[in-house]
Amino acid sequence: MGEIRWLRLRRAAEKVVGRPVSIHGSTDLPSHLKAAVDAAEGRVDIALNFQHIKSAEDALRAVAHELAHVVAGTPHHGPDFGAAWEEIYRRLREEYYRPS
Ligand SMILES: [Zn+2]
Repeated sequence: MGEIRWLRLRRAAEKVVGRPVSIHGSTDLPSHLKAAVDAAEGRVDIALNFQHIKSAEDALRAVAHELAHVVAGTPHHGPDFGAAWEEIYRRLREEYYRPS
């Protein structure tokens, strides 16, 4: 289980979407949800379900997924979402693993 570097993950997410991002761990989300997102008033709040998110890789995938909903502007998982997800996942990993 890889350690999750939360500050680094948040900064990577903010760089990718260009606005403030908060990432919270939750054990209250329904068990079928890995994560949820709320984007309002120029900021993004992401809740990660700690029943599922156990490693940095889990967190990167889930955060990229939620940011893709924000960037694609849709709650659905169609082609627009898929394209946004791929690009965001790539950039998020690049930022997260960038040597400091
Ligand atoms: Zn989704």
